[in-house]
Amino acid sequence: MIRITFLGTSAGVPTFNRMHPSIAIEYFGKDYKLFLFDCGEGTQLQLMKAGINFMKINSIFITHWHADHFAGLIPLIQTMNIEGRTKELKIFGPEASRYVKNILSLYEYKPFFEIVPIDVKLSKDPIKIFEDEEIEFYSIEVTHSIKSVAYAFKEKDRYSIDENKLEKLNLKKGRWLEIIKKQGIYKINNREIRIEEIANLKRGIKVTYSGDTVFDENLVKLAKESKILIHEATYAEKDKDVEKLHSSCSDAAKIAKLANVELLILTHLSRRYQSEEDIQNILVEAKKIFSNTIVAEDFLTIEILKNEIKIYKRI
Ligand SMILES: [Zn+2]
Repeated sequence: MIRITFLGTSAGVPTFNRMHPSIAIEYFGKDYKLFLFDCGEGTQLQLMKAGINFMKINSIFITHWHADHFAGLIPLIQTMNIEGRTKELKIFGPEASRYVKNILSLYEYKPFFEIVPIDVKLSKDPIKIFEDEEIEFYSIEVTHSIKSVAYAFKEKDRYSIDENKLEKLNLKKGRWLEIIKKQGIYKINNREIRIEEIANLKRGIKVTYSGDTVFDENLVKLAKESKILIHEATYAEKDKDVEKLHSSCSDAAKIAKLANVELLILTHLSRRYQSEEDIQNILVEAKKIFSNTIVAEDFLTIEILKNEIKIYKRI
């Protein structure tokens, strides 16, 4: 299962109801994994309120180094230290080494655990920046006032054994199936079996997060076929000329349509839009272009289990 929790959904200025950007991605695979996309002010408190154990964070992916997207790192690292974290913490981001070093230089003491900055290169094509046995992360450059990237979390594509195919080829189940899943090929009695002959490819679920960006069609390359696209929508169509560095709700919807995603979630809303009516207007405008759209709010939670999407409010 993949569980996504919106911890902060405001743009540059928070409101009483929307904190600075941060999204928790929990993956319940062979073991539990926890990642953050961005870490705005107040992220540790939001995690506590949501009942997510911040000590278990594996890695944090910062889209760009504007304070609304990273200022929560300092108190979060301090609390991890007080609570006795020993596990290393990876922090990804454009020029992460430089920024993380600067942030850590603000402390009077050194963390007891290792903080490993990972520089994310700016690339106009998706690049893989992390993988383990079950999952992978990709990034792509997007267009903002400073170096910025979007990220995608993806379950690895997997083969599942098709018993009908086995039967047709007169093959018996056994430990060799585990080996062929890893190697892609296996020899039985001088006959080479390829995995495609006995299994079906199951595409892994992908969740893409735009970070801050203007309308950038290049993002479609990363977002293509995502189950969920989380895209910033700082302003409504009527205010399109106010801002030049961000996307409107329609811009986000256009990317969702071009990328053929299943669900679009709009986030990073300007404080201008606080009434129910404002939010409805944003939703209506986006839906004209991409119908399966929702607007994020703090603690909105999305669970993806066996391809089904469940949406509820965490608290
Ligand atoms: Zn921002």
